[in-house]
Amino acid sequence: MKAAGRPGGAGARQERKGDCMAEEKTVLIVEDEKNIVDILRFNLERKGYRTLEAYDGEEGLRKARSEKPDLILLDIMLPKMIGFDVCAALRKDGDNVPILLLTAREEEEDKVRGLEIGADDYITKPFSMREVIARVEANIRRTAMSVPAGAAAADSAMPVAGDLAINTDSHQVFRAGKAIDLTQREYELLTFLASHPNKVYSRVDLMEQVWNYGYVGDDVRTVDVTVRRLREKIETDPANPVFILTRRGAGYYFSVT
Ligand code: CA
Repeated sequence: MKAAGRPGGAGARQERKGDCMAEEKTVLIVEDEKNIVDILRFNLERKGYRTLEAYDGEEGLRKARSEKPDLILLDIMLPKMIGFDVCAALRKDGDNVPILLLTAREEEEDKVRGLEIGADDYITKPFSMREVIARVEANIRRTAMSVPAGAAAADSAMPVAGDLAINTDSHQVFRAGKAIDLTQREYELLTFLASHPNKVYSRVDLMEQVWNYGYVGDDVRTVDVTVRRLREKIETDPANPVFILTRRGAGYYFSVT
């Protein structure tokens, strides 16, 4: 695992547009308020990202499927199809593109619901552009990769515990040789914990190490929801996990006996 970087640091400047060494990343903005789209596009392009826009949920889903963006900024309240449904449809496709939901202030239920249906994170409106850029950079980091054929990836996966194996080249996780679909964030949480077996990390630690956020606040709930979803995918009985365990009052750890 790479050590936690500083959000919005030198890495961003190296990806300046026109640098033929850096691969240009595409962000799809799905938002029906034109002034918000405009300010997001302006700031993302200034940081060297290519942007695509969609002004309703159906158009957003269509463009996500046809254009394969590297990250999606997805408003929840959208015409034709709400953001939750767009997110759920993409996850059902098996698409693990990072999705950041744009939520209205104080809608705590929205945040939890969004994470449960597979969003990676949320950004609360009104947001600062600095926050948006930091979260885009934290979530887009290592998503562009070519995925080798399933069998080869399973063969070269490294066992971490029991029948759980991780292929860090293809970013795939296997149980008993069968690939498990994880979002980028779930994958990073699992590999972080698995690479420090039996070490307990608090939610604040994980927010900093895995989410790469220099601030936390109420966001620690994101960690709980992501752990729960990860358990649902990798554990035989998510209510009695054997891989990712809770140390009450302290945090989470990856159990290796
Ligand atoms: Ca809206």
